This record gives sequence, structure tokens and C-alpha cells, in this order.
Amino acid sequence: MTSISKTANSNTILAVALPVPLYRTFDYLPPSPTYASSLSAGQRVSVQFGKRALTGIILAVKSNSDYPIEKLKPITRLLDKQPILPPSILAIAKWSAQYYCHPVGEVLFAILPPALKQGKAIYISSTQKWSAIKNPGKPASESIKSNAKKQLQLYQALENATEGLLEETIKLLGFTSAQLKPLFNKGLIIPETFDALTAAATEYQVTAPSFPLSLDQSTIVEQLSNDIGHFQCTLLQGVTGSGKTEVYMNLVDQVINIGQQALILVPEINLTPQTLTRFQNHFRCPVGTIHSGLSQNERLTNWELARQGAAKIIIGTRSAIFTPMKNLGCIIVDEEHDNSFKQQEGFRYSARDLAVTRGHKEKCPVVLGSATPSLESINNVLCGKYKKLSLPSRAGGATFPEIELLDIKSRPLEGGLSRPLIETIKQHLYDQHQVIIYLNRRGFAPAITCEDCGWLADCRHCDARMTLHKHPAHLRCHHCDYTSPIPTQCPDCQSTNIKTLGTGTEKAEETLEALFPETPIIRVDRDSTRKKDAMKNLVDEVNKGLPCILVGTQMLAKGHNFANVTLVAVVDADGGLFSADFRALEKTAQLLIQVAGRSGRGSSQGQVVIQTSHGDHPILQQIAQGNYQQIAEELIDERKSAALPPFSYMALLKAEDPNINNAINLLEKTKKMVAETAQMSDHSVELLGPIPASMSRKAGVHRAHLLLTSENRPALQRTTQQICHWLNNNRWGKSRWMMDVDPIEIN
Ligand code: ADP
Ligand code: ZN
Ligand code: ZN
Repeated sequence: MTSISKTANSNTILAVALPVPLYRTFDYLPPSPTYASSLSAGQRVSVQFGKRALTGIILAVKSNSDYPIEKLKPITRLLDKQPILPPSILAIAKWSAQYYCHPVGEVLFAILPPALKQGKAIYISSTQKWSAIKNPGKPASESIKSNAKKQLQLYQALENATEGLLEETIKLLGFTSAQLKPLFNKGLIIPETFDALTAAATEYQVTAPSFPLSLDQSTIVEQLSNDIGHFQCTLLQGVTGSGKTEVYMNLVDQVINIGQQALILVPEINLTPQTLTRFQNHFRCPVGTIHSGLSQNERLTNWELARQGAAKIIIGTRSAIFTPMKNLGCIIVDEEHDNSFKQQEGFRYSARDLAVTRGHKEKCPVVLGSATPSLESINNVLCGKYKKLSLPSRAGGATFPEIELLDIKSRPLEGGLSRPLIETIKQHLYDQHQVIIYLNRRGFAPAITCEDCGWLADCRHCDARMTLHKHPAHLRCHHCDYTSPIPTQCPDCQSTNIKTLGTGTEKAEETLEALFPETPIIRVDRDSTRKKDAMKNLVDEVNKGLPCILVGTQMLAKGHNFANVTLVAVVDADGGLFSADFRALEKTAQLLIQVAGRSGRGSSQGQVVIQTSHGDHPILQQIAQGNYQQIAEELIDERKSAALPPFSYMALLKAEDPNINNAINLLEKTKKMVAETAQMSDHSVELLGPIPASMSRKAGVHRAHLLLTSENRPALQRTTQQICHWLNNNRWGKSRWMMDVDPIEIN
């Protein structure tokens, strides 16, 4: 009897992906033969793995195993009646695992909403819909105090909405849930509970655009809509303020109108709440967001709405590229050049590149938009892989700002600012305009030193200087977050002659406050925007349009649209000009042109001042001309002659150990193994290193790199796979290693 049941069982074997760092799946049996027919790829299961109970995902149902059947264990429990991951997502996960050399189980668990990783059931949260009560006991005019303006406005909005308003919509209109409460207590309004699914289905409607598209814009929308229904990647290159977002929204309209869904990736939602607000205002339907700032329930709800096809629009950060979409109609990647699309920890992937892969697999158009596209994308246009559409001028009649290089070689600086710049700021404020001061260093000063013996405050755990912060006063390492008090005496020579070196945003802020005591100074950096909604409040404040000075880091360069900013000043443009990183010039050009693009977006002419000690540097000269395309094409030529990406491919093997020798040793052995075993066909792969990372010690751990390059991608891939499997099968004591395919930073 037993042997018969075994034969029946042996026809159904489950290949289960588990969240463990191993390059394989694990075979299990169904809990009992009767289950065999209800099992399929994409369902979650509980299994016993060694001594641990783990949640896993069925990757395949097959009839053979490399292991003897009697050794296989049955799964403990089936967690989903139906697959929760559709074949499209399983496919892109498997593809990514292969391409990025990462264990497939870890990939799947990296892309699952946190609640589902923990084995919880799929869940859609409910929402409230509020309506005004027809004939309230006491009329609203009597129960709402005349000075409670917001309350009155909210009540009127609800009175005008015959169908009532969803809580999300109420928030979009600028009200808070707290403002609903007094109206409810006064018996003026009443809630009704809706599950988010019904809500998503009932509220959908498109409002007409607030202005007609320009000729350029409508031509582009027409061309893009011709691609709906099949794969085509388009680079939409439009100068800052040219109306790209408007183009995206029109494409999305068309996609939704034929019953499909749109997936939009943006660099950092919390930094650019405006983009989200514009979408929400345009569509007046719940726009699902997927990013790390959401609660587990919100994230799971939006994910599930997308999966079921109810959410027509999903906007998210890089991880949103893995959102299951029932009927994907287009993918848009806004600011495609942005480094934040690259995941730099754990499962390292490029969401921008995966967008193209996914569009190809799911046969839908992909739009990559930017004013300063990556050299990779521009090159893909040059070699005919991508289509290019351009928006060469600013929308609504705004003109591009003039860019001036200001030589600061022999000028005295106050808080980083030269006299001519201070005078220019004064003029713009006098004209009732707003000013942006860009400075890519948070804190007060990037270093402190003893004037007598030259001692510098270093981090205990990193090869790095401590940054001085004044609010609150302390020293902080920006690499490991180690903090210490500010010394009043030099630890080496006991001198009290301690001075700061350089300028950070806090110091610039302090200087500006002293120079312009009447003007609000708004600092924008990671420290000042830590609180939830801080960025949104700040943007609202600036949008009031009153004269002010914004001083901040590259957060200010990203996608903001402040109509009254007419001056953008770059405190120091020289940092990226002489770096060892081969991408440094590309990144500098993108950053400076993006920052410059924040100026003059409204009706007044903008001005940009770039302070530099190297005004004759060719890149700065070209940036002053504002011609990004020309810069990009020259940099592409340089990359070509040096056989650097995109004309070759790279992978970076990183090793970490408390002892640098162990890290180097691991990489040496790897290099030797490859040299001894490489196939002839893979000899095109060059292995450079190992060398210590440019900041060798970080958070107490030493880091070293081995760089793999090749002009032959399949050969490089075979080698990286071989290395990962080999490393995985050997023990390396305390050393950790990771492979970064298509790295964006190699030092
Ligand atoms: P981008 O995304 O390219 O930086 P935006 O879409 O943010 O540009 O547009 C810049 C500004 O121009 C916005 O304030 C937008 O409302 C406005 N705008 C866009 N298209 C038009 C148009 N056709 N007519 C008038 N104004 C427009
Ligand atoms: Zn000293
Ligand atoms: Zn440190």
C-alpha cells in the first residue's frame, strides 16, 4: 500500500524558493496526495527547513527531483488557495535572480510586501466615505463658528459632493481627518465604510487637463499612444520644465481608457510630493502608491489593488517595479538618470533597467523621461534600440535661465558665499522672488581641526572625518552615524584652538540669517526633513510664493516646480570635477543642469550662478551653455575610446571583513579560481584587483573590491555566476561577499 502512495506522490514535487542565501530551490512534497492538483507556482507555503519553520513560495510544480523521494518532506501548510504572485512577476523575479546573480528565494522575499513575507493573509483595508447630512438638526451656519474657516470649507466641499467624498480625496483637497471629527460631532456629516476595492472601482474619472497641450506635447502623446499594446522603449528627453509630467498624464489617460493600468516610477516620493499631487489632482481617483514610507497595511492594500486590476495607476519608488499588475499598459520612469533607481544593498538591481525588461516581457511601452538622461539611455537611442522624443523648450512660455560661472579662486567667502553672489541674492529678494542655494553637504562643517598641531576629528569606525552639527551640537560620522561630543580641547596637544573646515548647509543657513535677517531661510536636507510630511509642509510654504531663501542639498535638485524661484546658486561646483570615478563628470553635469533647471520656471526670467575655482574646465563651460546633449555625446565618445560602460559591462565583487587581509585573500582566491577554470570563450573577461575600497574601513569593517569587465555580456554573466556559486559553496569565516552587477559606483 505505502509504495503505491509513494508513486502517486512522486508525480508532484514542489520546487520551493526560501529566503535563504543559497542559489537553489528546495524540493518538498504536497501535504497529502489529495492536494496535488490544487498546487501551483506562486502560492506561499510553510515548510520545515532544518530546525526552522519558514515561509516559502512555490516556484514550480514538477514530477522529478534530484533527491530520493523518500528523503523529501511534505510542506507543513499551504498558505494561499490561489497563487499570489502571477506568472509575470515570477518570471521577472527569476530573470533578475539570474541576471543580478542573487539567490532566487532572497529575490522573491525582497519584492514581496512585508506583510506577505510574514505569512499573513492578503488583506484589503477599508476606507471611509463622508457625506453631508441633508437636513441637520441645527443648520451648519449656526453650528460652525465663523472663524473656523477650514471647517466651513470642508463642510461646503462635502455639501457640494452629492455622492460624498472618500477620505483619500478629502486629504487631497488639503484637509485632515482631524478636521472631520468636529463636523461629525456636530451632527453635520456621516461616514460610510467602503472597502478600498469598491472605492477604487467607483471613484475613477479623469478630469480635463487645466490647459491645452502644446503642439510639441500633443505630437509626442500621439506618438507614444501608437505604441500602446506592444513593447517600445522611448527616451523622452525634455528640458526641465518642458511639460514631461503633462505628457505622462495624457499617456496614462489613454492607457486607462482602454482598461489597462499604468506603472510610474519616481526617484523619491517623499522628496517630490508635488508629482504625486499632480497625478492625484488630474485623475481624481485613488492613485496607489508603493514606497517604504507606507504602513504595512497601506502597502499591502495598494499592492493587492494593483494585482486585482482595481488600481489603475501605481506610482512608486524603485521596488514598485515588482508590483503585480493585472493588465499592465505602460511603464513610465521619471528622472531615469537618477541613482536612486539602483538598489545598493542586498538584492542589487536597477529598477530603470528592469522597467525595460518588464515592458518587453509584458508587451507594453516603456517611457524613460529626463532632462539629463543617463549616457546608457542616450547611447541606446544612438544605436537604435530606443526611440527618442524631445521637448526642447519650456512649457507655458517660460524661458531657460542664463548660467554664469563665478570665479571664486581669490575671493573671500562668507559661509561659502562670495560678495558678488550675496549682491545678486539681495537683488532677487528685492524683486520679491525666491532664491535656491545649493550646497551638497549637510551639517555645519565637514571637518574640525586643531589650528596648532593639525589634528583632525576622525570617525572611530571609518576612514572618514566627523561632521560638525550645531542643531543639536555634536560630531557625527555620515558613513556609520557614530556620534561624539564636540571637543573643546585638542586630544593630541591640548590646545583650545579648534576650528571648523569647510561649509555645510547649517553654516550657510547661519550666514544667510545674519545677512538677510528679514527673509525666511528654509534649510532642506536630510536632517531638516526627517519628520513625516516635513518636505510636504516645506513645499507648501515655498509655494505661497513670498520671498525666501532655500538652502539645501541635492534634495533641491529633484523635480520640484517652484514658480517664483528666479535665482539658483551653486556654492561649489568643483567637487565632482577631478574624481577617480568614471561617472563623475556625467553625474556633475546632470546635477548642475537639474539644479539650474529649478530657476525661472514661472513667468520671470531665471538666473543661475555657479561658484567655481575652475571656470575654464571644459565641462563647466559646456554646462554654462546649457547644452546637455552635447556634453553627453562627448562623454559617450570618451567612454567609447576607453571601452568603459556602456561600451563594456561591469560587475563588482565586494568582500568585507574586520581584517583587510581576509577580504583581499577571498578576492585573490576567487581570481585564481577563475584563471584556472575559465572556458576559452570567457577569456574576454578581465579581472582587475583586488584593491581596498576608496574608503577601506566603514563601520568597523574593511572592504575590498575585484572588478570584472568585459565587452561580451554573456561571457561576463557566465563568469559572475561561476564565481557566486563557487563562493557560495565554500566557507569564508567572518568574511562577507556580494556581487554588484552593473555597479554605478566602483570605488
Ligand atoms: P517637467 O516634468 O518637464 O519638468 P512639468 O510637466 O512639470 O515639466 O511642466 C512645467 C510647468 O509647465 C508646470 O507648471 C506645468 O503645469 C506647466 N505646463 C505644462 N504643459 C503646459 C502647457 N501645455 N501649457 C501651459 N503650461 C504647461
Ligand atoms: Zn592639537
Ligand atoms: Zn563612521
